[in-house]
Formats: sequence, C-alpha cells, structure tokens
Amino acid sequence: MSVEVRSVSKTYGNFTALRDIHLKIETGELVALLGPSGSGKTTLLRIIAGMDTPDAPSTATANADETDGSIRFFGEDVAKMSVGQRRVGFVFQHYALFKHMTVFDNIAFGLRVRPRSSRPSKSEITDRVHRLLKLIQLEGFGQRFPMQLSGGQRQRVALARALAIEPRILLLDEPFGALDAKVRQSLREWLRRLHEEMHTTTVLVTHDQEEALEVADRVVVMNQAKIEQVGSPAEVFHHPASEFVIDFLGNVNVFHGRIAGGNFQPGPLSTNSSQLQSAGTSSSANKIYVRPHEMKIARMKEDADAIEATVERINRAGVNAKIHLQTKQNDQVRVDLPLDQLDALALEIGERVYFKPIQARVFAPDYTI
Ligand code: ADP
Ligand code: MG
Repeated sequence: MSVEVRSVSKTYGNFTALRDIHLKIETGELVALLGPSGSGKTTLLRIIAGMDTPDAPSTATANADETDGSIRFFGEDVAKMSVGQRRVGFVFQHYALFKHMTVFDNIAFGLRVRPRSSRPSKSEITDRVHRLLKLIQLEGFGQRFPMQLSGGQRQRVALARALAIEPRILLLDEPFGALDAKVRQSLREWLRRLHEEMHTTTVLVTHDQEEALEVADRVVVMNQAKIEQVGSPAEVFHHPASEFVIDFLGNVNVFHGRIAGGNFQPGPLSTNSSQLQSAGTSSSANKIYVRPHEMKIARMKEDADAIEATVERINRAGVNAKIHLQTKQNDQVRVDLPLDQLDALALEIGERVYFKPIQARVFAPDYTI
C-alpha cells in the first residue's frame, strides 16, 4: 500500500475542514477525491503532500491511538518529511508553468534543482525530458515557451514536470478545471491511458462526477469534511451509500412516500433536496430516490400505482430524451427515455401521461454528529 491516512482531522480556528479521515491508497491505483467545493478535498491532498499538517491526535478523536493523525507512505510515518523528501509530484489547476522557461526547462526543473549527489547527469536529464515529451505527445515542443501552448498542452507539460522527478505519488488538484469541456474530455481519456502506462499511484481531486467515474479505479466521495463512500465507480454509481452520494452523482427525483409490500406509495413529490427541506419532512426515511432513467411513462393508467402528470418540456438532445413532467401537486419530475421509446409514445407538450418508478432507493437517515 502506498498511502495510508489514519484518523486525520484538520481544523482552522473553530472550522473543521477534515473530520476523522481514514483512507488507504494502493500502490499503482488512481483514486479520485470527489466532492463539492469546500468539502475538504484540497486540504486532504495538501496534508498528504506535506504542504499542511494534520491536527495533533489528541484533538482528533476521543479514544486516540498513537498512530492517529498520521500519514504513512509505504508503511512509514512521513510527519517529519518535507514535500521534497516525500517525493510527491503535483499539478494544480492554477499551478502555472514557469513563464520565462521553455517547455524543456520546465520539465527538467525538478531534476536540476536536486543536490549534486542525487542529480542525474546532463545527458540523463535530456534523455528523460525527451521521453516525457513523447509521453505527453509534445515531441518537438521542447523549445517553446508556455504562452505558445494551448491550455490543454500546458497542463500536459505540468504533468510531465511532476512526473520528471519519478514521484512516489502523483497528486492532481482539479488539473483540468480551467479548460473547456471538449479539452477536458480528451485530457481525461489521455490521463487514463497515461496511467495504464506508468502506474504511478495517483490521487485526483475533482468536483466533476463524470471525470471521477470515468478515470478513477476507486472514488472517494467527500462531503462536509467527511468521507461519505469509497468504492469503484460502478459501486458508488449503482450502490450509492447515502442520500448525499446519489444526489451528488447526478440527477435524481425525490419522492416522499412509502414502499409497502413491494408497491410504491408516493406522497408529495419533490425533485431536489433543498425543496425537500423546505417541505418540512418528518424523517429522511420516507424519501424515495428514483433516477430519471429508472422510470417508465405510459399514455394510459396501466398500473394502479402509476402517477398522473402533464408533459411540460421535452429535450431530445442526447442519447436519451429528457422529459419534464408536472404532477397535479405542481411537482417537477424528470424522466429520461431512449429516443425510440419517446417516438413510440409520440408525446406532445401539455398531454396527460402516467409515470411509474421501475427502481427506487431508500436510505437510512444520515448519521449526523
Ligand atoms: P475543496 O478542495 O473540497 O473545495 P478545501 O479543502 O479547499 O475544499 O476547503 C475545505 C474548507 O476549509 C473550506 O470551507 C475552506 O474555506 C476551509 N479552509 C481551507 N483552507 C483554509 C485555511 N488556510 N484557513 C481557513 N479555512 C480554510
Ligand atoms: Mg479544492
């Protein structure tokens, strides 16, 4: 195992940025830290890198173990090691390249600043930079300056610079955050291919669920200073552990009601959690979560428990059409249907339809401290 985070907490004054985090990262895996802004992702990454220190263990937990509050690299406590000694490579969204240096010099930088005893020879550095330029598909770009590159190319150079020191762990904090959607998508695929080749243990911070689900071997979902769930992309997507996770991973309809004897008995509906709170629900146990593609629509009331609604809007852009329905209680419901099914139904705006969840999820109430 490469990295072990043992009961790490971090407070700034009386604000808790991380609360009792436990995490193990296996050698060679690519782990994504996924969560909304402010959930503590960067703080955790900085603590792993050694740019910030965790709280002392005594304040972390009541029954503290002596290893609580520690970070281990390959079993070794790194508390006293600097960023350089930990041999981490990092790329940040705004971790700009050195503007006055060529691409070649940027990539070589981390090797040239090493003490003479561990510095590779000039020809070794040249060889390594050329190998890295090839890896990031920028052969022949070595003599350019950063301003002569596109945003995506610059981030690839930043990654090569981080890889040049042969880091034990690569830490990426929203590295593609400032790029447009198309470039992000291609860099995401490129990063995954690069990882297959290099197998450098990597932690990728992102608030973009698609990025995390597509690139990572495992996803760590964070919310308000805590880890909500750790699992493979398929696990967190198909078996979300909490209301927060299903809500964060994409669009979901929220119904108030009960599942009794296998039948769905809906109450009033709501489509987002903020509305739910204002609706004053008694407990979260009676919230039922249904993803838009886990619904069916019929023109006639074929099932006794199907719910009547009016078609408000149809958006055909995409693999699935997004159909917005409105119930008699004025609640909004979204149903995603393959285009051929939509065409077979021949729905028109304003028409009355009946919808029914095919698969519904309920969660135990969130544990709050
Ligand atoms: P994320 O990367 O998930 O967006 P961060 O780890 O950057 O979140 O921040 C988590 C929380 O900790 C935020 O509310 C942020 O304002 C707070 N925070 C981070 N660094 C500091 C600091 N140096 N001083 C005070 N608060 C901080
Ligand atoms: Mg951040």
